[in-house]
Amino acid sequence: MKAAVLHSVGAPFTVEDVVLAAPLGREVRVDVRASGLCHSDRHVQLEGLGMPFPSVLGHEISGVVAEIGPDVTELAPGDHVVAYLVSHCGRCRDCIAGEPFRCANTDYVRRSPEQGPRITRRNGEELAQVVDISGFAEQVLVHENNLVKVNDEIPFDRACLLGCGVITGAGAAINTAQVRVGDTVAVIGAGGVGLNVVQGARIAGASRIIAIDLQDEKLELARRFGATHTINSGSVDDVVAAVAEIAGTAGVDHSFEVIGLVPTVRLALDVLRPGGTAYAIGLQKPGAQLALDGAPDLFPLQKSLKGVFMGSTNPKRDIPVYADLYLQGRLNLDDLIHNHISLDGINEAYEELEGGKVARSIIVFD
Ligand SMILES: [Zn+2]
Ligand SMILES: [Zn+2]
Repeated sequence: MKAAVLHSVGAPFTVEDVVLAAPLGREVRVDVRASGLCHSDRHVQLEGLGMPFPSVLGHEISGVVAEIGPDVTELAPGDHVVAYLVSHCGRCRDCIAGEPFRCANTDYVRRSPEQGPRITRRNGEELAQVVDISGFAEQVLVHENNLVKVNDEIPFDRACLLGCGVITGAGAAINTAQVRVGDTVAVIGAGGVGLNVVQGARIAGASRIIAIDLQDEKLELARRFGATHTINSGSVDDVVAAVAEIAGTAGVDHSFEVIGLVPTVRLALDVLRPGGTAYAIGLQKPGAQLALDGAPDLFPLQKSLKGVFMGSTNPKRDIPVYADLYLQGRLNLDDLIHNHISLDGINEAYEELEGGKVARSIIVFD
């Protein structure tokens, strides 16, 4: 089968014939039908981020179960599935509590050295399976814990988005913040994840959802996802005052930082009302330091700052719900898609992404 292989940091992807092993134990072989070009794979390609090479990236996939290992219990051939990239054991205290994103036993889903690699080049060289999926390929071989069965009716190119971008954003509002009906929300950064925070807040019933960004096109798009108000932070003198005016109180109940910069995390704290919580979703550079002012942030304003990982997603509970919400017209996935490409078009599509485009290119397979 074909896969886009990355041989070293900074190299282009090369589409090659590779060999996928037969499923053992609880492994599942999936025919990939759609694979989204997530920005985080671009970061791995350009910066390495400690990942092994040569490797196959790609983690935002949907497809059809082709073959199951002898110990698989939850899936059968023909099932439509979405991959979930946070590996977890399913048996520890965190997993049982419905918080697999905190699981420390990530090795549980991996092969032992004696079992051999899941993916190899034609010459037998092992290909690293990045985040245990390797979805830039015609097929994947993954542990069943990394798969979620979804409604057959959701198109594959929409379903793949549920595995990463959508749950990261919508889950932050719905699960992490537990936004309630009538709450007020500010979202700083209206890129792909930010738009999903906006629609998560809309689904949860937030009364005012304020999208903040420097680009008017992104703010326009945010309205299509449920933003009730927008602020171009480049053309407003005082963003904090503007948020307070829209919220009708001293600030919002929940603010979300989706950029990954210290000043915007500071802004997320500043736009809160007393007792509010700021959620840091954007990936910060290692060593980034945030100065907290003990007075007044903590006392008397009682503000909180919380880090968010993968939208606190419980995949088997949440992903099928998002699929249903899409089919009911309540979750916007259509506007997250830029175009469909073939596996061979991956380098070109990632180059195009550098232009700051919000919507995804999706690799589709027949
Ligand atoms: Zn991703
Ligand atoms: Zn676990």
